[in-house]
Amino acid sequence: MTPPDTSFTPSANIAQLKESATIAVSQRAKALRAAGRQIIDLGAGEPDFDTPRVIRQAAQQAIDNGATRYTATEGILPLRTAIAAHATARRQRIIAADTITPAEVVVSTGSKQSLYNACFSLFGPADEVLIPTPSWTSYYEMVALARATAVPVHGCPSRGFKVTPAELAAHVSARTRGLILNSPVNPTGSVYSREEFRDLLACAREHNLWVISDEIYRRISYGAEAVSSLDVAESRDRLVVVDGVAKAYAMTGWRIGWTISTAPLAKAMTALQSHTTFSPASVSQSAALAALTGGPAIDATVTAMVAEFHTRRDAAMALLATEPKIRVNPPDGAFYLFIEAPGAGRIPDAGSVFAKRLLEECDVAVVPGAAFFTPDWIRISYAAELTQVELAVRRIIDAYRSA
Ligand code: GLU
Repeated sequence: MTPPDTSFTPSANIAQLKESATIAVSQRAKALRAAGRQIIDLGAGEPDFDTPRVIRQAAQQAIDNGATRYTATEGILPLRTAIAAHATARRQRIIAADTITPAEVVVSTGSKQSLYNACFSLFGPADEVLIPTPSWTSYYEMVALARATAVPVHGCPSRGFKVTPAELAAHVSARTRGLILNSPVNPTGSVYSREEFRDLLACAREHNLWVISDEIYRRISYGAEAVSSLDVAESRDRLVVVDGVAKAYAMTGWRIGWTISTAPLAKAMTALQSHTTFSPASVSQSAALAALTGGPAIDATVTAMVAEFHTRRDAAMALLATEPKIRVNPPDGAFYLFIEAPGAGRIPDAGSVFAKRLLEECDVAVVPGAAFFTPDWIRISYAAELTQVELAVRRIIDAYRSA
């Protein structure tokens, strides 16, 4: 008998798809730990704090109150109302008449799904989407899954890798339909100033582009408050703000993100979501509501977490400064350090070579810059205990010196 054909040929949809490199690193670190290796995981882009107690208690209460069924596809009204109220408070600081309504909000299973909904609903074959680079790995894949073309716009390291309107404009073609902004930036930790952000949005408007503004790290900044596109955009006609509870409230596993856009786009994304995941997890929505309506007590917890990230950043930067040959991008936000690998410009994909060595010989997991389309660098996440961060950074310095 002929054996059954077990070969698998991927469809054209995913033929070019690459697994998320950021996730792959932390999965590998977990596997090595399970096998007994004492790995320090500076790969994961995930706060190491527990979700604040009041949020956990609200979720337990929600279960007992029967919040265990499907909800509206776009999320429960109280949560969308709270999101809209927060956004309106920001927006009305600059445009008094601009009220954001719950109909413009779609809650999804993590901000990753929010981004995917937006990319899939806005872009298609023949469209080009500008992506300031280095950038988070998944923007590229999401644009590709929509069969559109991602166009990298490389920022200059001497300016914190931030792009300028002139650099964006130089990449605009007749096919350009969108721009994906992100500040504070994953993986560099750079933060766009109010003027820089305003000018990028103005440039996008001039070229009639849709802007997807990923603001998931906005609450984690160390200087002035990081700007939201809602603080500076002249108009919201072609703007999609993406945010969520994962990073600010240490709620990565709850999987709640959202978009704030226009009512017609929100309707389209809701239709898309109704065929994929349908409503986000009911209990998680109640937890997110508690986070957003928790008032000063929750704000104080967020401030304390950010202060701890700040301490770790300063400690890591102080250690790295002891080796003047190491080039580090000075970060003002998120919880990442972007470091140039030894042999950059000389060894092909120097970041991957260094990351591999750090894992195999030093038991330190980091993400190679290739994941962010900047192969000479590595990203470390300091979302780990201070002593672990310091130990890992010392090992990185030693490895750098002996490279
Ligand atoms: N965004 C985080 C990171 O960059 C979490 C993992 C992921 O979704 O990529 O590491």
